[in-house]
Amino acid sequence: MHEYETVIGLEVHVELLTDTKLFCGCSTAFGAEPNTQVCPICLGLPGGTLPLLNKKAAEFTIKAALALNCEIAPKIAFDRKNYFYADLPKGFQISQYFYPMGRNGYIEFLVNGKTKRVGIHQLHLEEDTGKLSHIGDDIISSPSSRVDFNRAGVPLMEIVSEPDIRSAEEARLFLQKLRSIIRYLDISDCKMEEGSMRCDANISIRPVGSTEFGKKTELKNMNSFRSVYRGIEYEAERQRSVVLSGESVIPETRHWDEAKGVTRAMRSKLVSADYRCFPDPNIPPYPVTEEWIQEIKKTIPELPDERYKRLTEEHDLPSSTAEVLTSSKELADFYDAVLSVHNEPKTVSNWIVSEYLGLLNAAGMDITESKITPAGLGKLLQSIAKGEISGKIGKTVFEEMFNTGEDPALIIEKKGLKQISDTDTLSRIISAVLAANPQSIEDYRKGKKRAMGFLVGQIMKETKGQANPQLVNKLLMEELNK
Ligand SMILES: [Zn+2]
Repeated sequence: MHEYETVIGLEVHVELLTDTKLFCGCSTAFGAEPNTQVCPICLGLPGGTLPLLNKKAAEFTIKAALALNCEIAPKIAFDRKNYFYADLPKGFQISQYFYPMGRNGYIEFLVNGKTKRVGIHQLHLEEDTGKLSHIGDDIISSPSSRVDFNRAGVPLMEIVSEPDIRSAEEARLFLQKLRSIIRYLDISDCKMEEGSMRCDANISIRPVGSTEFGKKTELKNMNSFRSVYRGIEYEAERQRSVVLSGESVIPETRHWDEAKGVTRAMRSKLVSADYRCFPDPNIPPYPVTEEWIQEIKKTIPELPDERYKRLTEEHDLPSSTAEVLTSSKELADFYDAVLSVHNEPKTVSNWIVSEYLGLLNAAGMDITESKITPAGLGKLLQSIAKGEISGKIGKTVFEEMFNTGEDPALIIEKKGLKQISDTDTLSRIISAVLAANPQSIEDYRKGKKRAMGFLVGQIMKETKGQANPQLVNKLLMEELNK
């Protein structure tokens, strides 16, 4: 019996962060009353004004194509993709069929410590459609639907991967890396739950070793990274059981049902010839010059891969730490900003990855919602480095900073958390602890080194953790060896 492998290609749609739509001046703001951000152009009403290209959307798309290592098309040209659906007011979608903005690019990411490269077949710019809301439980059983055209005409970038992805986990990692790159570029917020990033997956299976592709299904309606993972897992498994039972996979569009955890058939798949694409006669092509490309290149910031390299090579951080820190631009910028106050990459990265991310996760918060400032964390780490407070007390102060946003110096002062580094005070406490634990002194002198740890613990307890640990060790050792 054959072993089967899964072959996955992703089609990712990303709404661009422009203020206005792709071919008209309507606002792109999310969450407005339905059908309030519309005009004759984006509604496709007859007569009136011609569409005018939003240059910023074109620049954003070229920027993304460059960041994804694509070849750039010599001109910006648009075509009409003709089809009928209730969310498409014009009866055609303006897209880039003959000249996609970028081609033949790639994304790299780590899978179990190994670099995986997934090809980008193409990247192009198009208009978004309107948004349907289905009455009832779901699209299949719904008796009727409503449509909001606020989204119609919003600039949308579509990224089509090569079928290089081999598992649900790789699909998730690909998407995360793609989202990270796009967020670094600051051209989309890529929020799957708000629909500013959407992902469809083409899934097929084939016997391991085969170079031909199996019959594929297109999976839609995955609204989070988790549902992408679950949906693909389920669909690949379903195809396996279809094939193993001697039947063949029907090429069709399937719908991921998040609540039930299954995929269901929606409609048989359209082949692209059905769209009858032709150049849009209302939008003249616009040349993409080498000068323009160079200008756009200059606006591309340090991307995740370059940052990762800097953190592992120049800052000598472990690859897992560098992966976490560069996964979002906000986090990477935060790390760099703390370093400008306290230039200790190892300490700073440890605090961010274990303490800070721990608190953020526990609170279910994103770094952008936090009260912690890079300067605040930098100052706290300086206090620890100077011995004003211990690392342990530092964690208490950090939690307080997280909750209140207060300055670390103020918290240390207010709560009386300053480390006790005064020899007289510590000697007095040590004497009292020793007097109360004669057995431990005897154990220590008989060679039981663990007794030392116990005594240090007692002294720390007496001082509520505020004793300078190095000094306690030194003084205690002196006493015990008398
Ligand atoms: Zn409009």
